Amino acid sequence: MKEFGLFINNEWVQTQETFTDINPATEEPLATFAVASKDDVDHAVMSARRAFDSGVWSGMPALDRGRILRRVADLLRERAEDFAVAETSDVGKPIIESRLFDVPMTADSLDYFASLIADITGTAIPVGPDALDYTVREPIGVIAAITPWNFPLALACRKLAPCLAAGNTAVIKPASLAPMTTVMLGDLFLEAGIPPGVVNIVTGPGGTTGSALIHHPAVDKLSFTGSTEIGRDVIAAAAEGICACSLELGGKSPAVVLPDARIEQTVAGILFGAFLNQGECCCAATRVLVDKSMHAELVEALVEATRKIKVGDPMADDCRMGPMISAQQRQSVLDYIAAGRAEVGEPVVGGGIPSGLDRGYFLDCTIFDNVPTTARIYREEIFGPVLTVTAFDGVDALLAAANDSAYGLAASIWTGDAAEGLRLAASLKAGTVWVNVHNFVYSQAPYGGMKQSGVGRELGREGLEAYTEVKNVITWLGPGAFTWY
Ligand code: NAP
Repeated sequence: MKEFGLFINNEWVQTQETFTDINPATEEPLATFAVASKDDVDHAVMSARRAFDSGVWSGMPALDRGRILRRVADLLRERAEDFAVAETSDVGKPIIESRLFDVPMTADSLDYFASLIADITGTAIPVGPDALDYTVREPIGVIAAITPWNFPLALACRKLAPCLAAGNTAVIKPASLAPMTTVMLGDLFLEAGIPPGVVNIVTGPGGTTGSALIHHPAVDKLSFTGSTEIGRDVIAAAAEGICACSLELGGKSPAVVLPDARIEQTVAGILFGAFLNQGECCCAATRVLVDKSMHAELVEALVEATRKIKVGDPMADDCRMGPMISAQQRQSVLDYIAAGRAEVGEPVVGGGIPSGLDRGYFLDCTIFDNVPTTARIYREEIFGPVLTVTAFDGVDALLAAANDSAYGLAASIWTGDAAEGLRLAASLKAGTVWVNVHNFVYSQAPYGGMKQSGVGRELGREGLEAYTEVKNVITWLGPGAFTWY
């Protein structure tokens, strides 16, 4: 079994205490990881601090930093299959997802930010003839990044790529349920020639290792992706230290189906939205809101298509639905299904553990129909393959229902008239609105949540600017001094 240490100051550090990571498809141990103590976290943060303060990275020309990040992307592509297999073994996601989405998208995001950094400029502000005023964007300093377990590699680099491109240094802590690919990045950075201390990777429980990281006084920005509940602790820690903070949190995203939606495209798109990554997806389509006129036809087609989804060994090429990440997560989803049965009635498809899959944390793709807007399964983030369908009468009622949520991460509109979709997009309170697609993200386009889904944006130009501070420089050009003394 592999043993992974901490990656601090370009060295692999072993610790006395370790934890075992489990393959959720087999329930077998996969690898052991180091538990970073408070002292280890301090070592990592201070390494990042020294690297930042020395200017070895922030003072390096941006194009040279970009070259190193591009080298990391190339190395990742060379080892794409190793990373895909590791991600699938660790998370349980179908191998097709790791191969076609997680790994290539991560390499692309490294390339994208490596290029974009050359294009980040300040502005000259026309303040009048007596002064020259211009702004520059500078790195913030030491970034503490904390990530969840559902897209470990992609989300780690969604933070590291812009953070490093902008000249910051980082300490990243992946989730304990799936730390492998984040830790594997250590060797890529090392081979790519990153200076010591610029990237540090620590593992260990959120309550101790994560907490030590977010409360460390030498950290300048907290960048967190995870649950809204832990997000509150993170923003409280930022308030305590008065440091910058960005949060990518939970969601309960609607798929709004208009009367003119094209049924085949809509059904295929909603299944991709609801069941990608076992439904363990922050922006998953979890509430289908359908016009009454389409309701019966849509539900029948969704049920038929859902029955064909291949659940099982995520390493199999034809698998489209792997196991839940852990026994606890599966139980949490089963508890929601039980709540659905009590409040709504029998699901129209799924609702239990698939027969014949006794090992691994497998679960049926499940759909509840005619779900009232008061039901827990309609309002709360389930983070599993559970979809609710609710019918409404007309576009206004559909839009009002879509916005009636504490979350505002994403939403999709399904219509045969793209212009109508674009018009309605303006009414949706969500950081991302998709028309006739769901769960699609581009490195070049900003992503993030409104309301309780978060603060700030990742990816795109906004995702890079989030790792910079604006400095304003004023040079007096007028005659004599500006003073009244
Ligand atoms: P989580 O329980 O909030 O954990 C996220 C990370 O925070 C993990 O690394 C965790 O470490 C760490 N953590 C836990 N307690 C902490 C503490 N007191 N101080 C500092 N760090 C702490 O979330 P999750 O279960 O991993 O992920 C699921 C959630 O993430 C869902 O709500 C989902 O919607 C959200 N998510 C949002 C986005 C987005 O972009 N908006 C993307 C993906 C996921 P341990 O693993 O060691 O506990």
